[in-house]
Amino acid sequence: MSAYWDEHVETMSPAPLAELQLKRLRWTLAQAYRSPHYGTLFAEKGIQPDKIRSIEDIRRLPFTSKQDLRAQFPLGLVCVELREIIRLHSSSGTTGQATVVFHSRHDIEKWADLVSRCMHMTGVRPDDVFQNLTGYGLFTGGLGFHYGGERLGALTIPSGTGNSKRQIRLMQQFGTTVIHLIPSYAMRLMQVMEKVGVDPRRDLKLRVAFLGAEPHSEEIRQRVERYFGVEAFNSYGLSEMNGPGVAFECPRKQGMHIWEDAFLVEIIDPQSLDPIEPGQEGELVLTTLTREAMPIIRYRTSDLTRILPEVCECGRAHARLDRIKGRTDDMLIIKGVNIYPLQVEQALMEISEVGQNYLIVLERVDSVDTMRVRVEVHPDVFQEDLAHLKRLQDKITQELRNEILITPKVELVQPNSLPRSEGKAVRVEDRR
Ligand code: AMP
Ligand code: ZN
Repeated sequence: MSAYWDEHVETMSPAPLAELQLKRLRWTLAQAYRSPHYGTLFAEKGIQPDKIRSIEDIRRLPFTSKQDLRAQFPLGLVCVELREIIRLHSSSGTTGQATVVFHSRHDIEKWADLVSRCMHMTGVRPDDVFQNLTGYGLFTGGLGFHYGGERLGALTIPSGTGNSKRQIRLMQQFGTTVIHLIPSYAMRLMQVMEKVGVDPRRDLKLRVAFLGAEPHSEEIRQRVERYFGVEAFNSYGLSEMNGPGVAFECPRKQGMHIWEDAFLVEIIDPQSLDPIEPGQEGELVLTTLTREAMPIIRYRTSDLTRILPEVCECGRAHARLDRIKGRTDDMLIIKGVNIYPLQVEQALMEISEVGQNYLIVLERVDSVDTMRVRVEVHPDVFQEDLAHLKRLQDKITQELRNEILITPKVELVQPNSLPRSEGKAVRVEDRR
Protein backbone atom coordinates (compact mmCIF):
# COMPACT_ATOMS: atom_id res chain seq x y z
CA MET A 1 0.00 0.00 0.00
CA SER A 2 1.22 3.48 -0.84
CA ALA A 3 2.69 5.76 1.80
CA TYR A 4 0.17 8.36 0.63
CA TRP A 5 -3.56 8.57 1.15
CA ASP A 6 -3.94 10.99 -1.74
CA GLU A 7 -0.64 10.84 -3.62
CA HIS A 8 -1.54 13.39 -6.27
CA VAL A 9 -2.45 16.09 -3.76
CA GLU A 10 0.14 15.25 -1.11
CA THR A 11 3.11 15.35 -3.46
CA MET A 12 1.95 18.24 -5.67
CA SER A 13 4.80 20.62 -6.51
CA PRO A 14 4.50 24.29 -5.56
CA ALA A 15 3.27 25.70 -8.89
CA PRO A 16 0.25 23.41 -9.43
CA LEU A 17 -0.53 23.62 -5.71
CA ALA A 18 -0.64 27.43 -5.93
CA GLU A 19 -2.86 27.16 -9.01
CA LEU A 20 -5.23 24.85 -7.18
CA GLN A 21 -5.29 27.24 -4.22
CA LEU A 22 -6.11 30.20 -6.42
CA LYS A 23 -8.98 28.35 -8.06
CA ARG A 24 -10.32 27.31 -4.68
CA LEU A 25 -9.82 30.75 -3.17
CA ARG A 26 -11.98 32.29 -5.92
CA TRP A 27 -14.64 29.68 -5.33
CA THR A 28 -14.46 30.28 -1.56
CA LEU A 29 -14.85 34.03 -1.94
CA ALA A 30 -17.82 33.67 -4.27
CA GLN A 31 -19.35 31.31 -1.73
CA ALA A 32 -18.56 33.61 1.23
CA TYR A 33 -20.20 36.53 -0.58
CA ARG A 34 -23.55 34.85 0.01
CA SER A 35 -23.25 35.07 3.78
CA PRO A 36 -24.67 38.14 5.55
CA HIS A 37 -21.31 38.95 7.18
CA TYR A 38 -18.97 38.71 4.17
CA GLY A 39 -21.67 39.91 1.78
CA THR A 40 -21.88 43.23 3.61
CA LEU A 41 -18.15 43.47 4.22
CA PHE A 42 -17.13 42.72 0.62
CA ALA A 43 -19.71 45.18 -0.73
CA GLU A 44 -18.46 47.90 1.62
CA LYS A 45 -14.83 47.32 0.68
CA GLY A 46 -15.49 46.79 -3.00
CA ILE A 47 -14.09 43.26 -3.02
CA GLN A 48 -14.98 41.24 -6.11
CA PRO A 49 -14.09 37.55 -5.97
CA ASP A 50 -13.49 37.33 -9.73
CA LYS A 51 -10.92 40.15 -9.53
CA ILE A 52 -8.61 37.99 -7.43
CA ARG A 53 -5.58 37.43 -9.69
CA SER A 54 -3.10 35.71 -7.41
CA ILE A 55 -2.77 34.17 -3.99
CA GLU A 56 -1.01 37.34 -2.80
CA ASP A 57 -4.28 39.20 -3.33
CA ILE A 58 -5.49 37.53 -0.14
CA ARG A 59 -3.71 40.37 1.67
CA ARG A 60 -6.30 42.82 0.42
CA LEU A 61 -9.08 40.89 2.15
CA PRO A 62 -10.25 41.62 5.68
CA PHE A 63 -9.27 39.40 8.61
CA THR A 64 -11.88 37.43 10.53
CA SER A 65 -11.54 37.27 14.31
CA LYS A 66 -13.13 35.24 17.08
CA GLN A 67 -14.95 38.47 17.90
CA ASP A 68 -16.52 38.53 14.42
CA LEU A 69 -17.72 34.96 14.88
CA ARG A 70 -19.26 35.90 18.22
CA ALA A 71 -20.88 39.03 16.84
CA GLN A 72 -22.32 37.04 13.94
CA PHE A 73 -23.58 34.20 16.13
CA PRO A 74 -25.20 31.97 15.06
CA LEU A 75 -25.84 32.25 11.33
CA GLY A 76 -24.02 35.36 10.10
CA LEU A 77 -21.30 33.49 8.20
CA VAL A 78 -23.49 30.76 6.76
CA CYS A 79 -23.97 30.85 3.00
CA VAL A 80 -26.24 27.86 2.31
CA GLU A 81 -29.83 26.98 3.17
CA LEU A 82 -30.57 25.23 6.43
CA ARG A 83 -31.61 22.07 4.57
CA GLU A 84 -28.04 21.75 3.25
CA ILE A 85 -26.50 21.83 6.72
CA ILE A 86 -26.06 18.49 8.45
CA ARG A 87 -23.97 19.24 11.53
CA LEU A 88 -22.63 21.94 13.82
CA HIS A 89 -19.70 22.07 16.19
CA SER A 90 -18.73 24.61 18.75
CA SER A 91 -15.45 25.83 20.18
CA SER A 92 -14.38 24.54 23.56
CA GLY A 93 -13.41 28.03 24.70
CA THR A 94 -14.54 28.74 28.23
CA THR A 95 -14.95 32.50 28.06
CA GLY A 96 -17.57 34.61 26.34
CA GLN A 97 -20.22 33.68 23.80
CA ALA A 98 -19.48 30.32 22.16
CA THR A 99 -18.66 30.26 18.47
CA VAL A 100 -20.29 27.79 16.18
CA VAL A 101 -19.38 26.31 12.80
CA PHE A 102 -21.90 24.70 10.43
CA HIS A 103 -21.10 21.95 7.96
CA SER A 104 -22.78 20.63 4.82
CA ARG A 105 -22.47 17.01 3.73
CA HIS A 106 -19.68 18.03 1.37
CA ASP A 107 -17.84 19.69 4.29
CA ILE A 108 -18.14 16.67 6.55
CA GLU A 109 -16.82 14.39 3.81
CA LYS A 110 -13.89 16.67 3.02
CA TRP A 111 -13.08 16.93 6.70
CA ALA A 112 -13.18 13.18 7.25
CA ASP A 113 -10.92 12.74 4.26
CA LEU A 114 -8.35 15.16 5.69
CA VAL A 115 -8.31 13.29 9.00
CA SER A 116 -7.89 9.96 7.18
CA ARG A 117 -5.01 11.50 5.26
CA CYS A 118 -3.32 12.49 8.53
CA MET A 119 -3.82 9.09 10.11
CA HIS A 120 -2.67 7.24 7.01
CA MET A 121 0.46 9.42 6.85
CA THR A 122 1.58 8.05 10.22
CA GLY A 123 1.22 4.48 9.00
CA VAL A 124 -2.26 3.65 10.31
CA ARG A 125 -4.04 1.13 8.05
CA PRO A 126 -7.38 -0.72 7.91
CA ASP A 127 -6.09 -3.57 10.06
CA ASP A 128 -5.46 -1.19 12.94
CA VAL A 129 -7.77 -0.85 15.93
CA PHE A 130 -8.25 2.81 16.70
CA GLN A 131 -9.52 3.93 20.10
CA ASN A 132 -10.63 7.53 20.25
CA LEU A 133 -10.31 8.76 23.83
CA THR A 134 -11.64 12.26 23.28
CA GLY A 135 -14.94 14.00 23.86
CA TYR A 136 -17.80 13.14 21.53
CA GLY A 137 -20.08 16.13 21.35
CA LEU A 138 -19.67 19.73 20.37
CA PHE A 139 -15.89 19.35 20.73
CA THR A 140 -14.47 18.41 17.33
CA GLY A 141 -11.87 15.87 18.50
CA GLY A 142 -14.37 13.06 18.99
CA LEU A 143 -16.45 13.03 15.82
CA GLY A 144 -13.63 14.53 13.75
CA PHE A 145 -11.30 11.61 14.41
CA HIS A 146 -14.14 9.13 14.45
CA TYR A 147 -15.13 9.79 10.86
CA GLY A 148 -11.48 9.91 9.83
CA GLY A 149 -10.81 6.52 11.39
CA GLU A 150 -13.87 4.96 9.77
CA ARG A 151 -13.12 6.42 6.37
CA LEU A 152 -9.63 4.99 6.55
CA GLY A 153 -11.16 1.64 7.37
CA ALA A 154 -9.75 1.10 10.86
CA LEU A 155 -11.93 -0.51 13.49
CA THR A 156 -12.88 2.66 15.35
CA ILE A 157 -13.82 2.48 19.03
CA PRO A 158 -15.71 5.59 20.19
CA SER A 159 -14.63 5.28 23.80
CA GLY A 160 -14.88 9.00 24.55
CA THR A 161 -13.36 10.60 27.63
CA GLY A 162 -13.01 9.51 31.24
CA ASN A 163 -13.38 6.17 33.00
CA SER A 164 -9.72 5.28 32.59
CA LYS A 165 -10.10 1.73 33.87
CA ARG A 166 -12.70 1.02 31.22
CA GLN A 167 -10.44 2.60 28.59
CA ILE A 168 -7.66 0.23 29.58
CA ARG A 169 -10.03 -2.73 29.53
CA LEU A 170 -11.17 -1.84 26.01
CA MET A 171 -7.55 -1.67 24.90
CA GLN A 172 -6.98 -5.16 26.29
CA GLN A 173 -10.19 -6.68 24.96
CA PHE A 174 -9.96 -5.38 21.40
CA GLY A 175 -6.21 -5.16 21.00
CA THR A 176 -6.13 -1.41 20.41
CA THR A 177 -3.10 -0.37 18.34
CA VAL A 178 -3.76 3.35 17.85
CA ILE A 179 -5.04 5.94 20.31
CA HIS A 180 -6.03 9.58 20.09
CA LEU A 181 -6.03 11.61 23.28
CA ILE A 182 -5.20 15.02 24.61
CA PRO A 183 -1.71 15.17 26.16
CA SER A 184 -2.86 16.04 29.68
CA TYR A 185 -5.12 12.98 29.63
CA ALA A 186 -2.25 10.82 28.39
CA MET A 187 -0.35 11.83 31.51
CA ARG A 188 -3.31 10.96 33.68
CA LEU A 189 -3.73 7.58 31.97
CA MET A 190 -0.12 6.73 32.82
CA GLN A 191 -0.91 7.15 36.49
CA VAL A 192 -3.97 4.94 36.28
CA MET A 193 -2.08 2.23 34.41
CA GLU A 194 0.61 2.30 37.06
CA LYS A 195 -2.01 2.03 39.77
CA VAL A 196 -3.84 -0.94 38.25
CA GLY A 197 -0.58 -2.66 37.33
CA VAL A 198 -0.95 -2.60 33.56
CA ASP A 199 2.34 -2.15 31.75
CA PRO A 200 1.40 -0.97 28.27
CA ARG A 201 4.63 -2.19 26.70
CA ARG A 202 4.02 -5.67 28.06
CA ASP A 203 0.24 -5.95 28.22
CA LEU A 204 -1.10 -3.87 25.32
CA LYS A 205 -0.61 -3.69 21.57
CA LEU A 206 -0.39 0.09 21.27
CA ARG A 207 1.95 1.36 18.56
CA VAL A 208 0.73 4.86 17.61
CA ALA A 209 -0.66 7.81 19.60
CA PHE A 210 -2.08 11.06 18.30
CA LEU A 211 -1.62 13.94 20.73
CA GLY A 212 -3.54 17.10 20.03
CA ALA A 213 -5.95 19.84 20.97
CA GLU A 214 -3.67 21.55 23.47
CA PRO A 215 -0.11 22.87 23.57
CA HIS A 216 2.42 20.34 24.76
CA SER A 217 6.18 20.14 24.77
CA GLU A 218 8.55 17.76 23.02
CA GLU A 219 9.30 16.31 26.47
CA ILE A 220 5.67 15.29 26.90
CA ARG A 221 5.78 13.52 23.55
CA GLN A 222 8.87 11.63 24.61
CA ARG A 223 7.35 10.62 27.92
CA VAL A 224 4.27 9.32 26.13
CA GLU A 225 6.41 7.41 23.64
CA ARG A 226 8.53 5.85 26.33
CA TYR A 227 5.72 4.93 28.66
CA PHE A 228 3.18 3.57 26.19
CA GLY A 229 5.75 2.14 23.78
CA VAL A 230 4.28 4.09 20.85
CA GLU A 231 5.24 6.64 18.26
CA ALA A 232 3.41 9.84 19.15
CA PHE A 233 2.36 12.38 16.51
CA ASN A 234 1.34 15.98 17.06
CA SER A 235 -2.14 16.81 15.75
CA TYR A 236 -3.25 20.42 15.29
CA GLY A 237 -6.65 21.80 14.50
CA LEU A 238 -9.32 24.22 15.62
CA SER A 239 -13.06 24.15 15.35
CA GLU A 240 -13.17 27.23 13.11
CA MET A 241 -11.13 25.24 10.52
CA ASN A 242 -13.20 22.03 11.11
CA GLY A 243 -11.17 20.67 14.02
CA PRO A 244 -8.50 17.97 13.72
CA GLY A 245 -7.04 17.41 10.27
CA VAL A 246 -5.57 20.88 9.74
CA ALA A 247 -1.91 20.06 10.39
CA PHE A 248 -0.27 16.81 11.42
CA GLU A 249 3.17 15.32 11.82
CA CYS A 250 4.51 12.90 9.26
CA PRO A 251 6.87 10.05 10.23
CA ARG A 252 9.83 12.47 10.30
CA LYS A 253 8.20 14.19 13.28
CA GLN A 254 9.77 17.53 12.47
CA GLY A 255 6.88 19.94 12.22
CA MET A 256 3.29 19.39 11.13
CA HIS A 257 2.29 19.36 7.47
CA ILE A 258 -0.53 21.81 7.00
CA TRP A 259 -2.79 20.74 4.14
CA GLU A 260 -2.46 23.61 1.73
CA ASP A 261 -5.01 22.26 -0.71
CA ALA A 262 -7.62 22.84 2.02
CA PHE A 263 -6.22 25.84 3.93
CA LEU A 264 -4.40 28.95 2.83
CA VAL A 265 -1.65 29.73 5.35
CA GLU A 266 -0.29 33.10 6.44
CA ILE A 267 1.90 34.09 9.38
CA ILE A 268 1.46 37.67 10.54
CA ASP A 269 2.80 39.99 13.16
CA PRO A 270 -0.07 40.09 15.68
CA GLN A 271 0.56 43.78 16.40
CA SER A 272 1.12 45.33 12.99
CA LEU A 273 -0.84 42.60 11.11
CA ASP A 274 1.86 42.64 8.44
CA PRO A 275 3.16 39.40 6.96
CA ILE A 276 6.17 38.02 8.79
CA GLU A 277 9.50 37.15 7.16
CA PRO A 278 9.47 33.52 6.03
CA GLY A 279 10.64 31.22 8.80
CA GLN A 280 9.95 33.73 11.58
CA GLU A 281 7.44 33.22 14.33
CA GLY A 282 4.08 34.97 14.34
CA GLU A 283 0.33 34.44 14.48
CA LEU A 284 -1.13 31.80 12.22
CA VAL A 285 -3.89 33.02 9.91
CA LEU A 286 -5.94 30.52 7.92
CA THR A 287 -8.49 30.63 5.12
CA THR A 288 -10.66 27.63 4.30
CA LEU A 289 -10.39 26.57 0.66
CA THR A 290 -12.92 23.77 0.37
CA ARG A 291 -15.65 24.64 2.83
CA GLU A 292 -19.09 25.14 1.42
CA ALA A 293 -21.53 25.94 4.23
CA MET A 294 -19.39 28.33 6.20
CA PRO A 295 -16.12 29.44 4.63
CA ILE A 296 -13.91 31.60 6.84
CA ILE A 297 -11.50 34.12 5.36
CA ARG A 298 -8.18 35.01 6.99
CA TYR A 299 -9.07 33.68 10.40
CA ARG A 300 -6.78 34.94 13.14
CA THR A 301 -6.14 31.77 15.12
CA SER A 302 -4.18 33.49 17.96
CA ASP A 303 -1.79 30.53 17.72
CA LEU A 304 1.90 31.33 17.59
CA THR A 305 4.13 29.30 15.32
CA ARG A 306 6.39 29.54 12.29
CA ILE A 307 6.70 27.80 8.97
CA LEU A 308 9.74 25.55 8.80
CA PRO A 309 11.84 26.65 5.84
CA GLU A 310 13.07 23.34 4.37
CA VAL A 311 11.07 20.96 2.23
CA CYS A 312 10.31 17.76 4.16
CA GLU A 313 12.17 14.59 3.22
CA CYS A 314 8.96 12.57 3.28
CA GLY A 315 8.06 13.83 -0.19
CA ARG A 316 5.07 15.92 0.82
CA ALA A 317 5.18 19.43 -0.56
CA HIS A 318 2.80 20.96 1.97
CA ALA A 319 4.38 23.45 4.36
CA ARG A 320 5.24 22.43 7.90
CA LEU A 321 4.26 24.31 11.03
CA ASP A 322 6.54 24.27 14.01
CA ARG A 323 5.07 23.03 17.30
CA ILE A 324 2.54 25.62 18.51
CA LYS A 325 4.24 27.74 21.14
CA GLY A 326 1.00 28.99 22.70
CA ARG A 327 -1.70 31.52 22.01
CA THR A 328 -1.18 35.25 21.82
CA ASP A 329 -3.46 35.51 24.86
CA ASP A 330 -1.44 32.87 26.81
CA MET A 331 1.59 35.06 27.21
CA LEU A 332 2.37 35.99 30.81
CA ILE A 333 4.31 39.11 31.61
CA ILE A 334 6.06 38.72 34.95
CA LYS A 335 8.59 41.29 36.12
CA GLY A 336 8.72 42.59 32.57
CA VAL A 337 9.62 39.21 31.08
CA ASN A 338 7.38 37.50 28.52
CA ILE A 339 6.75 33.88 29.41
CA TYR A 340 4.69 31.13 27.80
CA PRO A 341 3.37 28.29 29.97
CA LEU A 342 4.89 25.83 27.51
CA GLN A 343 8.39 27.03 28.42
CA VAL A 344 7.70 26.09 32.02
CA GLU A 345 6.48 22.66 30.93
CA GLN A 346 9.53 22.12 28.75
CA ALA A 347 11.93 22.79 31.62
CA LEU A 348 9.94 20.75 34.14
CA MET A 349 9.45 17.64 32.05
CA GLU A 350 13.16 17.24 31.44
CA ILE A 351 13.62 16.54 35.14
CA SER A 352 13.09 12.85 35.85
CA GLU A 353 11.66 13.31 39.37
CA VAL A 354 8.90 15.53 37.99
CA GLY A 355 5.55 13.74 37.73
CA GLN A 356 2.60 14.16 35.38
CA ASN A 357 1.07 17.50 36.30
CA TYR A 358 1.95 21.07 37.21
CA LEU A 359 0.22 24.38 37.78
CA ILE A 360 1.43 27.95 37.42
CA VAL A 361 -0.05 30.29 40.02
CA LEU A 362 0.18 34.04 39.53
CA GLU A 363 -0.17 36.25 42.57
CA ARG A 364 0.37 39.85 43.49
CA VAL A 365 2.51 40.25 46.58
CA ASP A 366 3.14 43.84 47.79
CA SER A 367 1.96 45.05 44.39
CA VAL A 368 4.57 42.92 42.57
CA ASP A 369 3.45 40.09 40.28
CA THR A 370 4.98 36.80 41.29
CA MET A 371 4.93 33.31 39.88
CA ARG A 372 4.62 30.13 41.88
CA VAL A 373 4.98 26.76 40.18
CA ARG A 374 3.32 23.80 41.87
CA VAL A 375 4.88 20.58 40.64
CA GLU A 376 3.73 17.02 41.17
CA VAL A 377 6.74 14.82 41.85
CA HIS A 378 7.17 11.06 42.05
CA PRO A 379 5.95 9.57 45.34
CA ASP A 380 9.43 8.19 46.15
CA VAL A 381 10.71 11.74 46.51
CA PHE A 382 8.66 12.18 49.67
CA GLN A 383 10.30 9.13 51.25
CA GLU A 384 13.61 11.00 51.24
CA ASP A 385 14.83 13.43 53.91
CA LEU A 386 14.22 17.17 53.85
CA ALA A 387 17.67 17.98 52.53
CA HIS A 388 16.96 15.84 49.49
CA LEU A 389 13.64 17.57 48.88
CA LYS A 390 15.31 20.94 49.19
CA ARG A 391 17.96 19.93 46.63
CA LEU A 392 15.27 18.88 44.17
CA GLN A 393 13.38 22.10 44.73
CA ASP A 394 16.56 24.10 44.06
CA LYS A 395 17.29 22.10 40.94
CA ILE A 396 13.81 22.73 39.54
CA THR A 397 14.05 26.43 40.39
CA GLN A 398 17.42 26.62 38.65
CA GLU A 399 16.15 24.86 35.50
CA LEU A 400 13.12 27.14 35.36
CA ARG A 401 15.27 30.23 35.81
CA ASN A 402 17.47 29.14 32.91
CA GLU A 403 14.41 28.79 30.69
CA ILE A 404 12.21 31.74 31.69
CA LEU A 405 14.79 34.16 33.11
CA ILE A 406 12.93 34.89 36.31
CA THR A 407 13.05 32.95 39.57
CA PRO A 408 9.67 31.43 40.41
CA LYS A 409 8.77 29.95 43.77
CA VAL A 410 8.68 26.18 43.40
CA GLU A 411 6.41 23.99 45.49
CA LEU A 412 6.65 20.19 45.38
CA VAL A 413 3.35 18.37 45.78
CA GLN A 414 2.10 14.77 45.89
CA PRO A 415 1.10 13.01 42.66
CA ASN A 416 -2.53 13.53 41.73
CA SER A 417 -3.01 16.43 44.12
CA LEU A 418 -3.39 19.24 41.59
CA PRO A 419 -6.83 19.97 40.14
CA ARG A 420 -7.62 18.40 36.76
CA SER A 421 -10.05 19.65 34.18
CA GLU A 422 -12.38 17.40 32.20
CA GLY A 423 -11.25 18.70 28.81
CA LYS A 424 -8.21 20.74 27.94
CA ALA A 425 -5.77 21.31 30.79
CA VAL A 426 -5.77 24.61 32.66
CA ARG A 427 -2.10 25.40 33.27
CA VAL A 428 -2.35 28.84 34.83
CA GLU A 429 -4.28 30.04 37.85
CA ASP A 430 -4.35 33.80 37.95
CA ARG A 431 -5.08 35.10 41.44
CA ARG A 432 -4.06 38.67 40.73
P1 AMP B 1 -10.97 24.30 19.76
O1 AMP B 1 -11.40 24.96 18.52
O2 AMP B 1 -11.78 24.70 20.93
O3 AMP B 1 -10.82 22.84 19.64
O4 AMP B 1 -9.51 24.84 20.10
C1 AMP B 1 -8.52 24.98 19.13
C2 AMP B 1 -7.25 25.49 19.76
O5 AMP B 1 -6.59 24.46 20.51
C3 AMP B 1 -6.23 25.92 18.75
O6 AMP B 1 -6.48 27.22 18.27
C4 AMP B 1 -4.95 25.85 19.58
O7 AMP B 1 -4.82 26.97 20.42
C5 AMP B 1 -5.18 24.61 20.44
N1 AMP B 1 -4.56 23.44 19.83
C6 AMP B 1 -5.16 22.49 19.08
N2 AMP B 1 -4.27 21.55 18.70
C7 AMP B 1 -3.07 21.90 19.21
C8 AMP B 1 -1.75 21.35 19.17
N3 AMP B 1 -1.48 20.23 18.55
N4 AMP B 1 -0.77 22.04 19.80
C9 AMP B 1 -1.03 23.19 20.45
N5 AMP B 1 -2.25 23.75 20.53
C10 AMP B 1 -3.27 23.12 19.93
ZN1 ZN C 1 6.96 15.16 5.99
